[in-house]
Amino acid sequence: MIKTFESLGIDERILDAIRGMDWDEPSPVQVATIPLILEGKDIIGQAQTGTGKTAAFGIPLLQKIEPKKKPSALILCPTRELAVQVSEEMKRLGEYVSLRILSVYGGAGIEPQINAMKQGVDIIVGTPGRVIDHLHRGTLDLNEIKYMVLDEADRMLDMGFIDDIKYVLSKLPKSRQTLLFSATMPTEIQSLSEKYMKEPEIVSVSEDILVLPNTEQLYIPIGRRNKIWALCRILEANKPKTIVFAQTKFIVDMIEKRLKSYGYPVAAIHGDLSQSKRERVLKDFRSGKTNILIATDVAARGLDIEGVTMVVNYDIPDSPETYVHRIGRTGRAGKEGRAITFVSADEMHLLEAVEAFTESKIPEFEVPTSGKVKANVHEVLDFDEMADIFGMVKIEISTGGSAGTNTAEILELLTRKAKVSEMMIGKIEVGTKTTVAEIHKSVAMRTMRTLNQLNFKGKRLGARPYKE
Ligand code: AMP
Repeated sequence: MIKTFESLGIDERILDAIRGMDWDEPSPVQVATIPLILEGKDIIGQAQTGTGKTAAFGIPLLQKIEPKKKPSALILCPTRELAVQVSEEMKRLGEYVSLRILSVYGGAGIEPQINAMKQGVDIIVGTPGRVIDHLHRGTLDLNEIKYMVLDEADRMLDMGFIDDIKYVLSKLPKSRQTLLFSATMPTEIQSLSEKYMKEPEIVSVSEDILVLPNTEQLYIPIGRRNKIWALCRILEANKPKTIVFAQTKFIVDMIEKRLKSYGYPVAAIHGDLSQSKRERVLKDFRSGKTNILIATDVAARGLDIEGVTMVVNYDIPDSPETYVHRIGRTGRAGKEGRAITFVSADEMHLLEAVEAFTESKIPEFEVPTSGKVKANVHEVLDFDEMADIFGMVKIEISTGGSAGTNTAEILELLTRKAKVSEMMIGKIEVGTKTTVAEIHKSVAMRTMRTLNQLNFKGKRLGARPYKE
């Protein structure tokens, strides 16, 4: 049965704001939690970004809080970006509710936050470090807190905030409602909830709705050496607003440099950047000054950016959960999106794991050939991709039985003339017109070049990768 926002007990002031946001219906986590939170229950919500969890706790809080100029609600978030995102979404939902919402986080001046606090604030959204800083300075009064939210609790634990969180919880009035949201439920979260929550109801949104239905998922079989080429082709074909995910900071930087040198409006984000640089990169991407963002998982987790039309997994992630997180950056809020994953020959098992986890079959996609590619990015021979599990690749040489050639002659040609060590040579199969020889990938390119310059039985030789 499809639920409506009206049926969840939400009052008119907030329904009006929701209507202005063009949301058709409440998401499953909203259906499950809003009525319980309105009733006053403590909640543990197993839901990640992209499921609508912010509004799931934001709507009931906005509805229940009476303006009184002293903070009634404290929302702890792992990062500055998320704190800003949560407060912005709450401000939009609270457009017709006269509550003051303030985000406090490190890396920004503390004075303006103190001044804003003095004016009177109802809801504080902050990162643990800065909240504690305000507590120590005596600029934040938690005596009237009635609602406490731990957002992305697992991530806060991953980031080492456990003691900070416990400290803040210990400073709160006992009679309060506590809400905890987390994508995963490690044991630390269970013990945290046992100690600090009152008979919490556990709400989990089943995994299959995490893969957003508006996202078209595709994969391209491709080796490392041709990924940049494929990426350029994809970017040219659609001119999308794209987030490209890569496995390491090093690869992120490499992609950024290459794309920049071809003239693409691109920026990179990873954990090594200073907070202010990260802010600038995100601002440029949000505003459209850059429309390609290269990111590591850590840097991009939880980001909510309007209008991302494509996600490219430059490297397929090791875990299917990460895959779901990544592709959740596109196709949001009812808009169509596309997720393209590069998969090299030795990574097929990772793709199968994603398919099993998401219970979907991801179709293969070819590198688009339409559209002009900037500069000289060409497809190159990728022997890593062609090699078998022993690292051997097949090279076709333009001489065979019809010219009287035999195996021994080819072996001699390879070892003596092309200077390939015998250890690097595999099976040699002499055909009528051509010969196919297995050569180790590490020397394949050099061997091919040398063979192409040699004469054999009075003729110039040709050599190229063998296609079956
Ligand atoms: P969240 O999981 O809170 O990060 O929300 C993900 C995105 O979905 C945000 O851009 C929200 O504004 C949007 N959103 C939240 N609830 C709904 C809804 N019921 N319908 C459409 N979009 C929504």
